[in-house]
Amino acid sequence: MDHTQQAMARLTSAGVRGIALTWVDNAGITRVKAVPTARLKQAVRNGVGMSPVFDVYLVDDSMTDSPHIGGPDGDLRLVPDLDRLTVLAGQPGWAWAPVDRFESSRAPYPACQRRFARRQVATVAEEFGIELLMGFETEWMVGRAADDAGQVANGPAYGMARLVELSDYLSALLDAFTAQGLEPLQLHPEYALGQFEVSLTPTGPLAAADLAVLARETVRAVSARHGLAASFAPMVRGDGLGNGRHLHLSLWREGKNLCRGGDGPFGMTADCEAFLAGVFRELPALLALGAPSPASYLRLRPGYWAGAYHSWGLENREAALRFIEGSPDDLGGANAELKCFDGAANPYLLVGAVLAAGIAGLREELTLPLPVVGDPSGQLNQKRLPESLPAAVDRLAASSVLATALGPELLGAVLAVRRAEAELYEATGPDELVTATRDRY
Ligand code: GLU
Ligand code: MG
Repeated sequence: MDHTQQAMARLTSAGVRGIALTWVDNAGITRVKAVPTARLKQAVRNGVGMSPVFDVYLVDDSMTDSPHIGGPDGDLRLVPDLDRLTVLAGQPGWAWAPVDRFESSRAPYPACQRRFARRQVATVAEEFGIELLMGFETEWMVGRAADDAGQVANGPAYGMARLVELSDYLSALLDAFTAQGLEPLQLHPEYALGQFEVSLTPTGPLAAADLAVLARETVRAVSARHGLAASFAPMVRGDGLGNGRHLHLSLWREGKNLCRGGDGPFGMTADCEAFLAGVFRELPALLALGAPSPASYLRLRPGYWAGAYHSWGLENREAALRFIEGSPDDLGGANAELKCFDGAANPYLLVGAVLAAGIAGLREELTLPLPVVGDPSGQLNQKRLPESLPAAVDRLAASSVLATALGPELLGAVLAVRRAEAELYEATGPDELVTATRDRY
């Protein structure tokens, strides 16, 4: 039996009827084609058809156009990655696999976001012998329906009362994660009413992006089975508290964590500092990928630990880049957290672009500016990150580092989607914008 036949036998014995093949579009929406289990072999061999026009779809399912991609012509082949094939615990009868997208000719598709991420992983390994570990934190809010998030689990922030109220739901979530081979590090009630967070064990960047998709859909599915609607949108209500999707990362060479044991700030090695300095320099441009919705900028405000300042600091939760030293006996503990990103982001685009920015930092041997101590608000030299989507998009359009890494097809489509969403909601007030986007992601 070959690899695919083995996978099909495993799925069939687990009672799996269908496999959800997902990819994430440039608007941050996870799109899907499903195949019956018996068709998996054909799907692996020939791919499953889907139009390239989804690369210019907006959050409201309307479409725009871009220099290289758009319009009704053409087809792509979605090819599942069987290494990530997972039987879904929250959706009996279903399995899931992420896909890579190819041209009909089977040539690589230049706008495939997953391929983009994979290429950056290969570059940092080939050029610098560095591997990264990454992990996303998933925050979400639950309600009995999408429009009443906060009507359940409205006890105190981080309060045990919330965990008791939703005890069955939360234990079912842990069960589902574990059954799927995802190792949750932590699960806790967050600050906002009805808000929870799960963080996963760090893994390679491509896997981290895949698992961000899987974690979200698992939360969504388990929530639905408990009569709850989960929202992962940057803003769910107009009260100023949003959902982030922070990204943790550490750099490794030959089993050594480069975020510790060096002579740089807080024990960083020169490689770690250069990589983080590259990321730090590009943060305003990265925001257009990591905080990609007009609604992202309702979240990204000072005072909510969302990382609204273009600052970095040791364990500083108001800085966009929070460095964590970790305890001396925890080799993996030292890492950096990028707090300014949210769940509207395409995780593949984001990890690829963060890597590209870090690679530029390594090439140029950059160093970090001075860290901030305390609340950056009102401090000399501490500036806000872009305060609107158009401002972030201008920074992305001006970034030669990201333009080179993304390539014209992918960058063109991303810029088109961002500009079209900014225009779509230009005249929309905050409450309406929240309503329009909160149940989309
Ligand atoms: N909910 C906050 C955000 O919007 C993050 C809170 C925290 O975990 O530090 O990013
Ligand atoms: Mg949190």
